[in-house]
Amino acid sequence: MTSFPRPDYDAVRRYDPERAPVRLDLSDNTNLWGTHPGALERIRSASVDDLARYPELYADELRRAVAERFDISIESVTTGAGSDDVLDSTFRAAWGPGAHISYAAPTFSMVEPFARMNGLKTRAVSWAAADRDPALLLQGGPAVVYICRPNNPTGHLTPREWVTHLLEAREVNGPLIIIDEAYADFAGETMVRDASNMPNLLVARTTSKACGLAGLRCGFAVGTPDVALAIEKSRGPYKVSGLAAAAAAAAVRDEEGWLPDIIAPCLESRTRLSEELTARNLRPLPSAANFILCAAPTGAARADALALREVGVGVRPFTGIPELGEGLRVTVGPWPMMEDFLDALDRTFNLTVVS
Ligand SMILES: *Cc1c(COP(=O)(O)O)cnc(C)c1O
Repeated sequence: MTSFPRPDYDAVRRYDPERAPVRLDLSDNTNLWGTHPGALERIRSASVDDLARYPELYADELRRAVAERFDISIESVTTGAGSDDVLDSTFRAAWGPGAHISYAAPTFSMVEPFARMNGLKTRAVSWAAADRDPALLLQGGPAVVYICRPNNPTGHLTPREWVTHLLEAREVNGPLIIIDEAYADFAGETMVRDASNMPNLLVARTTSKACGLAGLRCGFAVGTPDVALAIEKSRGPYKVSGLAAAAAAAAVRDEEGWLPDIIAPCLESRTRLSEELTARNLRPLPSAANFILCAAPTGAARADALALREVGVGVRPFTGIPELGEGLRVTVGPWPMMEDFLDALDRTFNLTVVS
């Protein structure tokens, strides 16, 4: 008997972050300073062939740009339509009867649905337990261990020791360890070069956040050549649009040195925002990324986020955050935007500032 869709799709939901347009959108951690000028220039100079012809099969120009930036071989690099696509393809390549993915919770909300849609089970270990003993992530023999570094939504720079511990504790031919470095540019720390010569370690990166190219849908990942090849097979050819790959390559090469120029003011804004949230007793978590998670002013995150939406400000609510309970995640942007946000916050919740 056949049926459509597959029965386990009953448990898969269409992604809906309840994100209606707002005046000031601080809900998705994109770059509020703008977009990479080199990428924009490449799109503006698009030719007929860029659109009329098929792109490179496997986005080699982008792979080469990544290889040159990190001084690794092109065979170590794979790409995708966003790093979401890289994760999705990786999970598909990891599938097997009963296979599961483990991670320390809370973490990136897309991991669970991507696992489910690829027929993998998930196993969440609490953050505190993983911190005491990272080897708990290996329990039950996962096919994949996912680590987000810095972690979304907490902003925590996940300890490098977790990774080294896992690499030592796992068996030969053990699980693939994925390090999601979507926010690594803001933390100034990367494990890309480790991944290029360490078996079964994959570092995933995106051009959606620091590079300001979320609309392009371009991501990449680095592993040993056999890991990268498995993901290339799973993702398939022609998946990254040619113009997107060319524009992303320009951003990755960063010839104008634009990236450091936006990261410096972002870190400055982050420090100031953190101080302002502390002064309102909202207990911001220390962040290594371009967002801050703080306590929900009334203790009810979803209602608080809705109240801010009413006045045109978008933030993302979270529940079950260690040390915080219910929280709001706020994207860090240029200081005038942060002042606008703080003003809306104070007026909506009658907050008083303690200096
Ligand atoms: C935003 C984000 C991504 C997704 O990036 P895309 O390249 O836009 O798909 C991946 N991982 C984490 C942790 C993110 O926050």
